[in-house]
Amino acid sequence: MLNIRIEKTKDPKVLPGKDNPLKFGTIFTDHMFIMNYETGKGWYDPRVIPYQPLNLEPSAMVFHYGQEMFEGLKAYKTDDGRTLLFRPDKNIERANRTNRRICIPEIPEEDFLQAIKTVVKVDEAWIPTKEGTSLYIRPFIIATDPYLGVRPSDRYLFIIILSPVGAYYPEGLNPVKIWIEDEYVRAVKGGIGEAKTGANYVASMKSQVKAHDEGYSQVLWLDGVHRKYIEEVGAMNIFFKINGTVLTPELNGSILPGVTRDSVLALCREWGLPTEERKISIDEIKAAHENGTLEEVWGTGTAAVISPVGQLRWENHIMQVQDGGIGPISQKLYDTITGIQLGRLEDIHNW
Ligand code: PMP
Repeated sequence: MLNIRIEKTKDPKVLPGKDNPLKFGTIFTDHMFIMNYETGKGWYDPRVIPYQPLNLEPSAMVFHYGQEMFEGLKAYKTDDGRTLLFRPDKNIERANRTNRRICIPEIPEEDFLQAIKTVVKVDEAWIPTKEGTSLYIRPFIIATDPYLGVRPSDRYLFIIILSPVGAYYPEGLNPVKIWIEDEYVRAVKGGIGEAKTGANYVASMKSQVKAHDEGYSQVLWLDGVHRKYIEEVGAMNIFFKINGTVLTPELNGSILPGVTRDSVLALCREWGLPTEERKISIDEIKAAHENGTLEEVWGTGTAAVISPVGQLRWENHIMQVQDGGIGPISQKLYDTITGIQLGRLEDIHNW
């Protein structure tokens, strides 16, 4: 159990108004959680302090070799005023998996959860209540040793910041257009693709810019070896419904194991839909589209929960899905998961 010191701001910001069309990740709350680490000392001095800039040496290792990790989850306000987190244990487990992969010291799960709950409680008034809104929670760890040699740092900062957010896609539960990347790759097995670390995201930016320029909202990655098997989208896992079966790529080491992905698989299985986690080639998707069995495609992620995909583009092939509309399973998954997140549906899974 952490002994968290709380220092409240003397200069609270004005809360965004009820009608503020919150964008994703632009506004930050009054406070943040922060805790230090030093080799030999362990994690120490956990505190909630006013949200503020960091004071770091330009030689801090994070700036040079990218030793950093992050997570993303949300807090929701229920109709009767309770605050709910959605499956924080899964994010914490994934955070420590990332930490192990990139040589960052782990944080005991119960301390991690206590840190999240404490800072969310302090800034509870910032949780927006309008439909589709929530409080995005961004825990992250950075390496702070002032040192230019390449090795794991001996000092770290663990920080949690909070941001009231609207819908990730301004269109809401509207179908997105996805660009299937055939030039660059995001990750390979044995690399860091299954870790939530900034390097994976910087690797994706060039393709994302290209996709945006072509009018597509996100990039779908193919595997880095054969350039043939579907992996995941920029910040989402991907699902296909083909001829009644729900398919998603297996967790192969280069895909981020999404919390929403896991929840979607559990729900589909409960609903009696056949589900398969396996290798899915782009040729299989193209063939299913051509023979009319590609029934639905959707992305899953904390930010948008479910993103129906209305169009996929691979090389010169443009594949329309559901006539560009929202499929029934996508809609049912969205309604069910957001219903549980908002405490409107019974939470039989203890999520
Ligand atoms: N893949 C990537 C690369 C992501 O960044 C995310 C967002 N965290 C996801 C998948 C979806 O994961 P989750 O459902 O846990 O948000």
